[in-house]
Amino acid sequence: SSKSSAELIDLENKYVARTYDPIPVVTAEGKGCILKDPEGKRYLDFLGGYAAVNTGHCHPKIIETVGSQVAKLHHTSRAYYNNELPVFAEYITKYFGYDRVLPMNTGVEGGDTAIKMARRWGYLSKGIKPNEAMVVFARGNFWGRSLAAISTSDNPVMYEHFGPYMPGFSSVPFNDTCALEEALKLKNVCAFMVEPIQGEGGIIVPSDGYLKEVRRLCTENNVLFIADEVQTGLGRTGELLACDHESVKPDILVLGKGLAGAVIPMSAVLANEDIMCHMTSGTHGSTFGGNALACAVARRTLEIIREEKLVENAKKMGEKFRSDLQCKLPKGIVPVIRGKGLMNAIEIHPDFGTGHDLAIRLKDAGLLSKSASKQAIRLTPPLVISESEIEEGVEIISQVVDSF
Ligand code: PLP
Repeated sequence: SSKSSAELIDLENKYVARTYDPIPVVTAEGKGCILKDPEGKRYLDFLGGYAAVNTGHCHPKIIETVGSQVAKLHHTSRAYYNNELPVFAEYITKYFGYDRVLPMNTGVEGGDTAIKMARRWGYLSKGIKPNEAMVVFARGNFWGRSLAAISTSDNPVMYEHFGPYMPGFSSVPFNDTCALEEALKLKNVCAFMVEPIQGEGGIIVPSDGYLKEVRRLCTENNVLFIADEVQTGLGRTGELLACDHESVKPDILVLGKGLAGAVIPMSAVLANEDIMCHMTSGTHGSTFGGNALACAVARRTLEIIREEKLVENAKKMGEKFRSDLQCKLPKGIVPVIRGKGLMNAIEIHPDFGTGHDLAIRLKDAGLLSKSASKQAIRLTPPLVISESEIEEGVEIISQVVDSF
C-alpha cells in the first residue's frame, strides 16, 4: 500500500476488531532484525513478532524456498500424500528425537492437539474412566485464545464473559513442585502441560531443577509431561529446546511460532508411538495441517537453525544482552532484568511509569518491543541478531531509561 502511517493507523482503528492495542508504528518492510515504516524510518526489532521471527525478516534462503515451493505445490490436503510432508516428518522427528509428528497450523491448535492426545492416552493406555480425565496446568500459563485455552487462564481479561468453560482442567502455581506432587496423585490425571519459561505471563524463569522435578513427578505418577515450547523452542532460550537446559525429555512436545520461518503459520506436536498410536484415522486433522508449502519452509527453517548456529548465537547474544543491560541500566528505574537466551524481559519501577510507557518511548527512539505485564516489556529479537545490533539496542534502551 502507498498510504502513510497515519492513514493506515486510522484505517485499522476504524475497520479491525479492537482486540489489540498496538504500539503506534506501522511496519512496511523487514530485513534481519531491522524494520522500516512506510516513511522509511528504521527500527530495531526487539519483539520478533512475539518471538516468532527466529530466522529474521525476509531471510534470503527462506524466501527462496517459499518462492520455489509456492510455484510448484502449496496445498492439496491430507486427502492425499504430498511430496513434502513425509520428508519434513522424517527430518523433524529425527531433529527432536520422537517417533511421530502431528502437523497443525497455530500454537493454540498445537496445545489443543496435545491435550486431545493426552486424554486419548489417559483413556486407552492409563485406564481412566470415560470422561473423567484431568489435565493440570501452571497458573499464569498462556497457550492461546481458544475456548479450551482460556479455560485454563487465570487472567480475567482473557476469560471473562466467554463462559461456560471447558471441564477437566485444574491448575497449580508455576514453579511449585510440592503443589504439583499433590495434584498428580489423583488417579484421573493424564497430563501436566507447562511452558518451560512462561512467555505471555511475563517471561517467568522457574528455579533451576524445576523441569527435572516435573519430569520425575510425571514419570512417578504415570502422567504425561506436555512441554509447550511454542515460544521457548527452536533455539529461543539458547538451547534447541528450553527443556534441554535440564536435559529432560517431555512426552509430548508442542512447537509453533517460527517453525515455518514466521512466513507461514505452522505448529507441530511430537510424541512417541505409545501415545501417537491412539491418534487413529479420523480422530484429528486440519485442512491446512501438513501442507506442502509449510512443510518445505519448516524443513528449510530447521536446516538454517543448524547451518547458521542460531542456538549458539541466541545463547551468546542473550548473555551479552543481559550483562550489558545490567551494566548500563540504573537499578532504581529498572530493578529487574531476567530471561534466558533471547527470551528476556525488563521491568520499570512503578514510580517511573508502566511497561507500555517504556515501549512507546523505545519506539520513538527506534527500538520495537511490547509490554508483557503491567511493569515489564519483553525483549525477544530474531535469533540472527548480531553483536553490533545488541549493542545498538542496549544503547537505545539505556538512553530511553535515562530519560525517565
Ligand atoms: N503457547 C505459547 C507458549 C505461546 O507463547 C503462544 C503464543 O504466544 C501460544 C501457545 C499460542 O500460539 P498461537 O498464537 O500461534 O495460537
